[in-house]
Amino acid sequence: MRDRGADVVAVARVAVPVPLPQPFDYLAPAHGNLPPPGSRVLVPFGPRRLVGLVLGHAEVAESESLKHIERVLDVALIDSDLLELLRRARRYYAFAPGEAVNLLLPGALRRVKPFRAGPPDRLAITAMGQAADVGRARRQAEVLEWLKPGPMTRAELLDRGASAAVLRKLLDKGWIGSASAAAESAVEPGPELNSEQRTALAFILASRYRYRTFLLAGITGSGKTEVYLQAARALLRRGRQILILVPEIGLTPQLIRRVEARLGLSAAVYHSDLSEGERLACWQAAGSGQARVVIGTRSAVFLPLRRPGLIIVDEEHDASFKQQDGARYHGRDLAVMRAHLLGIPIVLGSATPSLESLNNATAGRYQQLSITRRAGTAEPARWSVLDLRGQRVSMHPALLGAIERHLGEAGQVLIYRNRRGYAPVLICPSCGWTADCQRCDAHMTVHQSAGRLQCHHCGAERRLPPRCPECGEPELHTLGAGTERLEQQLQARFPGVPVHRVDRDSMRRRDQFSRLLTEIRRGQPCILVGTQMLAKGHHLPGVTLAAVLDVDQALFSADFRAPERLGQAVCQVAGRAGRGRRPGEFILQSRQPEHPLLAELCRSDYLGFARRLLEERHAAALPPAVALAMLRAEAHDPKRACEFLESAARCLPRSDLRVQGPVPAILTRRGGYSRFQLWLQARERQRLLHLLPGWVEHLHSLPEARRVRWHLDMDPTEI
Ligand SMILES: [Zn+2]
Ligand SMILES: [Zn+2]
Repeated sequence: MRDRGADVVAVARVAVPVPLPQPFDYLAPAHGNLPPPGSRVLVPFGPRRLVGLVLGHAEVAESESLKHIERVLDVALIDSDLLELLRRARRYYAFAPGEAVNLLLPGALRRVKPFRAGPPDRLAITAMGQAADVGRARRQAEVLEWLKPGPMTRAELLDRGASAAVLRKLLDKGWIGSASAAAESAVEPGPELNSEQRTALAFILASRYRYRTFLLAGITGSGKTEVYLQAARALLRRGRQILILVPEIGLTPQLIRRVEARLGLSAAVYHSDLSEGERLACWQAAGSGQARVVIGTRSAVFLPLRRPGLIIVDEEHDASFKQQDGARYHGRDLAVMRAHLLGIPIVLGSATPSLESLNNATAGRYQQLSITRRAGTAEPARWSVLDLRGQRVSMHPALLGAIERHLGEAGQVLIYRNRRGYAPVLICPSCGWTADCQRCDAHMTVHQSAGRLQCHHCGAERRLPPRCPECGEPELHTLGAGTERLEQQLQARFPGVPVHRVDRDSMRRRDQFSRLLTEIRRGQPCILVGTQMLAKGHHLPGVTLAAVLDVDQALFSADFRAPERLGQAVCQVAGRAGRGRRPGEFILQSRQPEHPLLAELCRSDYLGFARRLLEERHAAALPPAVALAMLRAEAHDPKRACEFLESAARCLPRSDLRVQGPVPAILTRRGGYSRFQLWLQARERQRLLHLLPGWVEHLHSLPEARRVRWHLDMDPTEI
């Protein structure tokens, strides 16, 4: 540290959880030294006291307005590698320092009042519980019995009928306890790897203890998970920790149990549905090294790890890895950055890799490992396309015939329709009135059983009108079919066959879905109809027929990512069929059966289709061929949003950036706000990174900025 003059003073730069663009400077506590970076501190902030995180030290001019840190709560709680990850993430995504506190500290550690942990939420039977003599306490015996196959969440146990009082008694006796402290169990043997799986595993293990990104591209049902798990096992044996990131929807108890059974230990789980106490417990267990395997959604990328050895990102193409508010980071991309900082390998796995990752593989930044055959004896499903032109129904007669045939052969059927509700449009046949959202440029969706109209963009709801509000016509018509209507149609057409609907309306709770999956895996013939919740990575060995009902909207979408998402959804749904012993069949319905993208998808595999899309993106100079950042602004008055973006564009330094806009968002009006965007594109990412942080800081000082809501989104996934 250089010599300090009389007018210069050393301060700590502290991130506090407020949405302001800069960190705040504080003097050392009245009786003490400046706490090192990564320390958790209590600081005065206006009339309040806040918990903050020391990001670094600086020297500033002495001033009366500088305040002292009130108390150091934890010295160097966050270690330097996480602080470095945060520094890079902030530079890359240009988010406010206050977000740092939210990303790095679990909620319990952000409170001013000390947090008292409640009972643990994931419970396991202890050795004492295994040997316990329960006597006549029937209810307690029941709970112990339920926990014998493996840990369960508190919610699952309550749902099955355990009372809070019974759980309390068992906890007090020490017969059950937190799952993260539960003992290791025997490792369940996995299937033998085929030659492609073995090759992939060998590459990953050859690079242990040093950074390398592997893109594990294996067709659906090819046993990618088995490759991850064997790689994880090898590193666990050497005392390393494993971090597994999964999409929000992929975090089912089945996955956790599979990982635990195959690795022979209990995994620590981290996601937003947990209680504060549970999150804190997982955070601490990961940081102390007690948790040897951590499974979490995107925010788990910021968990402290004591001896990290391998990061796995499962279903790396999934949209939920991108955070859409606050710090708009991409969990997968930060995981790669983190692995690089830690000097450890990372595996990105998917049957339908993102174009970003494929592009990185083509450029030699990632190493692609392909698995082209299904594990075991299963064959890929047979595909066919049904022409819906001239049909006035949502399901083609040939599709209904196929469903009947598969049910008759004791198969299960999966129908994918990415639209929940009964019908997407309510229309008056006499005057043409449609039920539209008053705050969005969108129709309201009919939810028949609830008797309501709902806007899927802003959440607005109202009662179904009994007659047309314009002309009084009593018979309103619905257009199109959502999952609710399909469920009814299928029930009417196939009486006696269970029809299960899977969407956000019917599966409000995580455990509802996982219980249904367990039931389906028993193999009784049934029909599943649902949204993307159904399409993602679930292993459903009884499904022999899968169908996608409507792809046409995506073919003509203004979103340049729509065809990629379409291809991913179609291949993921097709991949659900025929994973067991019986061969699978896949049916696609379209009014555009000759569309070149569909033809390509049916002719080649996903990778062939993706290569073609990637060529198109290069030709059109769109990501990932170029780097894209988006400045978004929204206001009740569209003029204000545009004015801000125009001023913002004017103060961009002259450079070789391509600037487009202001352009309206695809859904221009949402929730009463008009939304506009400025697109900034550069051939080289460094150009953008070099320029954006200073520019964004400057934008805060624009007078127009105060009249709009705005943010910068680096590598946006929604437009
Ligand atoms: Zn009318
Ligand atoms: Zn709306």
